[in-house]
Amino acid sequence: MHYSAYHSVDVINGVGTRCTLFVSGCEHACKGCYNQKTWRTDAGHLFSSEQEDRIINDLNDTRILRKGLSLSGGDPLHPANLEGILQLVKRVKRECTGKDIWLWSGYEIAELSPQQQAIIDLVDVFIDGKFEQELYDPALKWRGSSNQVIHWFDEQAAENK
Ligand code: SF4
Repeated sequence: MHYSAYHSVDVINGVGTRCTLFVSGCEHACKGCYNQKTWRTDAGHLFSSEQEDRIINDLNDTRILRKGLSLSGGDPLHPANLEGILQLVKRVKRECTGKDIWLWSGYEIAELSPQQQAIIDLVDVFIDGKFEQELYDPALKWRGSSNQVIHWFDEQAAENK
């Protein structure tokens, strides 16, 4: 897996202060995509075990209280990312007590493969669907176009929205 950017302190992508990882690889080719440089699966940097450790350590760092991890891209559910993302979300759930996971994907919840669903089973908030330029609305929170749906799987995350 490759990633294009990592922000250890982010207050834009989800509720609260967060760590945010933008992975590489996306096959949706949405018209008006804001992040075309992430479409290639080999764009950016190789996601190493050191980078994975850094995210876990950042989430557990008590000097800056982060609410959780946000996974965006690119598409975290692109076939090239499934193994790396599953490993990462499993570690967050196992090693980072009380942290939530948000994930953005162009795939819709009804069309997920069993491998993609295994990741979503560990996610607290899932924002799905391609970006549709005709449905773009700058007033929307945490999504770019009105066709995209925020799925709140975690009651506490929903209460804090
Ligand atoms: S899913 Fe996101 S990254 Fe992929 S083409 Fe659409 S807007 Fe761009």
